[in-house]
Amino acid sequence: MAGGRTLQFVDRAQAFPAKRPATARAEDFREIADRYALPAAEDQAGRCSQCGVPYCSVHCPLHNHIPDWLRLTAEGRLREAYELSNATSTMPEICGRICPQDRLCEGNCVIEFSGHGAVTIGSVEKFITDTAWEQGWVEPIVPGPDRGMSVGIIGAGPAGLAAAEYLRGYGYAVHVYDRYDRAGGLLTYGIPGFKLEKPVVMRRVERLAAAGIVFHYDFAVGRDASLDELRERHDAVLIATGVYKARGIKAPGVGSDGVVEALDFLIASNRKGFGDAVPAFDDGSLDAAGKHVVVIGGGDTAMDCVRTAVRQGAASVKCLYRRDRTNMPGSQREVTNAEEEGVEFVWLSAPQAFEAAEKVSAVRATRMRLGAPDASGRRAPEEEPDSGFRLDADLVIKALGYDAEELPRLFAAPELGVTRWGTVLVDNKTLMTSLDGVFAAGDIVRGASLVVWAIRDGQDVAKNMHRWLKANAKGERKAA
Ligand SMILES: Cc1cc2nc3c(=O)[nH]c(=O)nc-3n(C[C@H](O)[C@H](O)[C@H](O)COP(=O)(O)OP(=O)(O)OC[C@H]3O[C@@H](n4cnc5c(N)ncnc54)[C@H](O)[C@@H]3O)c2cc1C
Ligand code: SF4
Repeated sequence: MAGGRTLQFVDRAQAFPAKRPATARAEDFREIADRYALPAAEDQAGRCSQCGVPYCSVHCPLHNHIPDWLRLTAEGRLREAYELSNATSTMPEICGRICPQDRLCEGNCVIEFSGHGAVTIGSVEKFITDTAWEQGWVEPIVPGPDRGMSVGIIGAGPAGLAAAEYLRGYGYAVHVYDRYDRAGGLLTYGIPGFKLEKPVVMRRVERLAAAGIVFHYDFAVGRDASLDELRERHDAVLIATGVYKARGIKAPGVGSDGVVEALDFLIASNRKGFGDAVPAFDDGSLDAAGKHVVVIGGGDTAMDCVRTAVRQGAASVKCLYRRDRTNMPGSQREVTNAEEEGVEFVWLSAPQAFEAAEKVSAVRATRMRLGAPDASGRRAPEEEPDSGFRLDADLVIKALGYDAEELPRLFAAPELGVTRWGTVLVDNKTLMTSLDGVFAAGDIVRGASLVVWAIRDGQDVAKNMHRWLKANAKGERKAA
């Protein structure tokens, strides 16, 4: 029994792992906080009130058994805590690092509601699985008995990787195709190292490869094979391609040199972190060093851009967002981190034009105010008359979000059903698309979302693919 080890939330204050000083953080791309030392992790886990109905777990997309692994941690039974945490998640240490916990598990913690400060669930989750990796408790994936069938997965992001792990466990030959040269999707090339250090992602990929999952890199479906060709090659196919069509801004000068896309900027930075040659970074186009940087947007991507620009040595970094802090989509914790690191937020402001001769030199913007709620329930921004102002800028980064690419055209599969937003339509029960034996999961179904949802979708779709394959087994292995 938990005894005196849990329910300590009244006497024991909430404590996150200490962040490094902002000046030191700005010097490198390492994560901003070290993880807990053992007694601190146990102490923090012991703050859990062990509620009868754990709202944390209800609001975790993976329905992790949070109170149970917190109790085991508080009792010093770390290996058991890891095993329980691992039972529902294929990447607990990654979610522990980058889930917006303030909107998910921790935001629904009962002791947060009672004013004591949530249990630091994400930090404990990260601690448990990092410890498991260090102690050698993370077991290799054991492939199930060979079923003589193969699956093809398009996209090596968290949705594709979670599905690959499950499907390999069920005994299928698994082939993952990705147009990048490394696996991980946005975990590898979108999210910066200061939120998620890359070796943390790569050790997961290595574990999958060690289980016999075959990765085909630099393989773009639509260029190197059509969807039909993959269907010929495999008994079932999963589309897990994420969303990559950047939303634009319609404003004069937006096509000028020095006005760049967020993902181009972040991918270049992450590639430099891997030691890759990146000509567009090396010639200065995607390097913020010494520049006055303006980032446009208020989501996670914008937060990652401003904080990357700080680390690259920008002269100044401003974030222009048309709503206010309360109404922004990005995590409040990330805004606090960015402010500590010297980013200036220009709330309630929208760009109107980009001044440029040879390259961009300023953003002309206008003040906004929040009007009545729109169809989505959020208060719609309206222009404040005669409120124009100007910001010097020699690098402008557009971070306005991403939509689905036109997959039916790209994949030469006009019969692939999509929504009016271009996301792939799936049957809610089977998760199969309009094409027999072709399934879809992750952002390409939901639209831009979260890593933890991509993992959940990957796990769910794998179960459905397995069910379908068992019922439709042709008994002949396709060439793979
Ligand atoms: C900058 C940024 C920061 C983010 N930060 C967070 C965060 O802190 N926390 C969080 O929870 N979420 C965050 N997100 C969202 C999260 O990264 C995504 O929701 C998640 O990665 C979606 O997973 P996915 O597997 O569906 O797609 P992706 O991760 O996008 O992976 C898709 C993969 O498919 C490949 N692919 C695409 N088309 C093809 C093709 N034709 N042929 C072959 N391969 C193809 C791509 O190369 C990619 O590797 C962030 C997103 C961005 C852009
Ligand atoms: S997966 Fe995310 S939401 Fe679920 S417990 Fe972990 S940090 Fe919280």
